[in-house]
Amino acid sequence: MSLNDTPSAERIHIGFFGRRNAGKSSLVNKVTGQELAVVSDTLGTTTDPVSKAMELLPVGPVVIIDTPGFDDVGELGSKRISRTRLILNKVDVAVLVVDLIEGMGKTEAQLIALFEEKRIPYIIAYNKADLKETVTAGKDNEIYVSSVTGKNINELKEKIAGVASCKAPSIPLISDLIEPGDTVIMVIPIDSSAPKGRIILPQQQVLREILDSNAMAYICQDTELDRSILNLNSKPKMVVTDSQVFGKVKGIVPGDIKLTSFSILMARHKGFLRSCVKGVKAIDSLDNGDTVLISEGCTHHRQCEDIGTYKLPKWLGEYTGKKINIETTSGLSFAEDLSKYKLIIHCGACMLNDREMVFRTKCAEDAGIPMTNYGIAIAYMNGILKRSLEVLPDILKELE
Ligand code: SF4
Repeated sequence: MSLNDTPSAERIHIGFFGRRNAGKSSLVNKVTGQELAVVSDTLGTTTDPVSKAMELLPVGPVVIIDTPGFDDVGELGSKRISRTRLILNKVDVAVLVVDLIEGMGKTEAQLIALFEEKRIPYIIAYNKADLKETVTAGKDNEIYVSSVTGKNINELKEKIAGVASCKAPSIPLISDLIEPGDTVIMVIPIDSSAPKGRIILPQQQVLREILDSNAMAYICQDTELDRSILNLNSKPKMVVTDSQVFGKVKGIVPGDIKLTSFSILMARHKGFLRSCVKGVKAIDSLDNGDTVLISEGCTHHRQCEDIGTYKLPKWLGEYTGKKINIETTSGLSFAEDLSKYKLIIHCGACMLNDREMVFRTKCAEDAGIPMTNYGIAIAYMNGILKRSLEVLPDILKELE
């Protein structure tokens, strides 16, 4: 993906599922128009999910995910099936690829049951239609295709686009909180843990929405914030800060200027802010020996690792005065058994899509474990959560 592309987490996720050798990979290659997946007659050639970003008109940017066969066998096979199950948590649309000659079987029934349980809209693509002559159209969500001849590939894309376009639009980051002409100050500290030569995704996305709203952005580090406020001829509508410097920033921003964080805006955008605010109060009940799960959505950002593995455990210990055990997970793996945790603190989830975050929130709710996120936890421990939620009065009620 190039720097100009829509971030993966903002794209509609479309997963191709099915048995080994149903022709998933060939079909994915036809749909994407690229040799994305390795194709062979050997069973189980796709060993890991493979993703490809593309434009699917008229819905726009999507990610196509090719998954390993759901009937894989042996120890490795069951690991692949587990990974495919994880993919199910983030797909917005599923395509079940069925070998038309072999027809539906146990694996397909299992997959359909999972789609229905997880409320994933799905299409059944009967592949290898070139091998059977008397093929007629099926139900609305069924289609006969051939990845060899290209039969009905465009029609399949249209069906996928039709289902994908029914997805509810995402909650904005900031555009619904500002008016054209407003000024927003963005506080972005550049310390040793900041990535070299760029600003991170949530900051880029907030900046883009400010520009899209015909508002104005003023960007500075926390060290220049007081001068930045003085430099402005009129009061800014809002200050949005990196959560890590909440403590310092709250002392600089006058009480009549709204203050919030990238993390709070991102949690709202991903649909789990309300649960985060409800869950954060559990910090006050933590006791010696309790275990807290710190969960990160990806593995490759030093900045977040530093917060998750060092800063947050330290702040939690200082705030509670207790000896708390910390466990961490990262990437797509979110602990299957949450019952041993007293609290889950999730990262900002900028690399995860909203569906995945709603799923994780539901897992925590079902297990009866409170869940919050980095930004909310930091604001709470700094005593400024209430203030940082004033921009969102309906969420603020959760604190009362
Ligand atoms: S760890 Fe979380 S917040 Fe940090 S970059 Fe990854 S997904 Fe984003």
